[in-house]
Amino acid sequence: MGRVALVTGGTRGIGAAIAMSLKAAGHTVAATYGGDDEKANAFKQETGISVYKWDVGSYEACAEGIRKVEAELGPVEILVNNAGITRDAPFHKMTPEQWKQVIDTNLTGVFNMTHPVWPGMRDRSFGRIITISSINGQKGQFAQANYSAAKAGDIGFTKALAQEGARKGITVNVVAPGYINTQMMSSIPEKVMNETILPQIPVGRLGEPDEIARCVTFLASDDAGFITGSTISANGGQYLD
Ligand code: NDP
Repeated sequence: MGRVALVTGGTRGIGAAIAMSLKAAGHTVAATYGGDDEKANAFKQETGISVYKWDVGSYEACAEGIRKVEAELGPVEILVNNAGITRDAPFHKMTPEQWKQVIDTNLTGVFNMTHPVWPGMRDRSFGRIITISSINGQKGQFAQANYSAAKAGDIGFTKALAQEGARKGITVNVVAPGYINTQMMSSIPEKVMNETILPQIPVGRLGEPDEIARCVTFLASDDAGFITGSTISANGGQYLD
């Protein structure tokens, strides 16, 4: 059944794979982005998916952006909180600004996007909220106190909200990727990849964006109605929680 799906950070990387997978499943998709107009316009041309620009760190911008999407496409029934950033530094060098930027985008952004769609989902007795956390929110990571805190916060947020949505037909879940083959990874030197990263992953390879997208598309489907408050760890066996 085709529904309206909104994917934050849906114009590139994992988010673009999610947006395309939801479209292929028959949903009407809106993909948002933060600033890279060139990438977003190329994505729109290539896929025919509608794109919208706003900062997920601003509550007002999210509320206004969602109003626009709903006026153009219809009520948002599936929300994928995928937009995320890193500002890595060992803690003794981490600035308050690096802390704030990551918390604002990766954690408060999830509140800012979910809060405006929640009343409509309650009224219609259906909703799917899926947030992309990270293996580093589950196990912690050197130089990522900000990112690990935000991504762990996303999991706590999800478990709490799942309990509130359960009787209203709204499921709330997390997908926690391990190392995924995105642009971010291609900048890592081959030696570091082969000697440090790959040996940590039991399946012996990086994940593909499509593999995350398929998890999300399943959680968004009507078939996944009994799954709520869960975290799907898609990490090649790197961290078993
Ligand atoms: P990318 O950096 O490739 O893309 C990030 C997307 O988020 C872009 O569309 C970007 O917009 C958007 N975005 C960033 N900040 C904001 C903001 N403040 N407001 C609105 N949109 C914003 O990310 P990845 O595909 O690598 O990662 C996607 C998600 O998966 C993230 O949450 C990340 O933390 C998580 N993740 C990624 C892993 C990986 O290996 N890549 C591993 C584990 C988790 P614009 O293009 O305009 O900048």
